[in-house]
Amino acid sequence: MNDCIFCRIIAGEAPATILYADEQVTAFYDIHPITPVHILVVPNRHIESVNEVEEEDAKLLGHLVVVARHLAIANGLERRGYRLVINTGPDAGQSVFHLHLHLIGGRSMPFRFQ
Ligand code: 5GP
Repeated sequence: MNDCIFCRIIAGEAPATILYADEQVTAFYDIHPITPVHILVVPNRHIESVNEVEEEDAKLLGHLVVVARHLAIANGLERRGYRLVINTGPDAGQSVFHLHLHLIGGRSMPFRFQ
């Protein structure tokens, strides 16, 4: 059994509110939101972190951002703004080792985020 929680969500084996899915990426609500809108956009293929990204993944990573942009618009964030964050490794606080883009917004955020 795959012990990666995001792989299990993508496969429909673990619960999540799926907001968008295609052959490359899946987006769902973060289970512990830090902002009124907190969505994770993840590649369907298991990539541990940005440290494992290769040149041939450039299109996939671009698609993650485009999907995040559409979700930002759908959640009314386009005008007031939002952050796209990819935590990588221990110092950044990465806790799930399946690459994911945080889309956070819906409130004013300080320069430093927790
Ligand atoms: P990281 O700290 O690795 O950048 O972010 C991992 C994120 O995944 C955290 O914000 C955490 O709340 C979220 N998360 C962890 N487990 C689950 C889960 O089972 N379901 C969902 N929807 N989010 C999760």
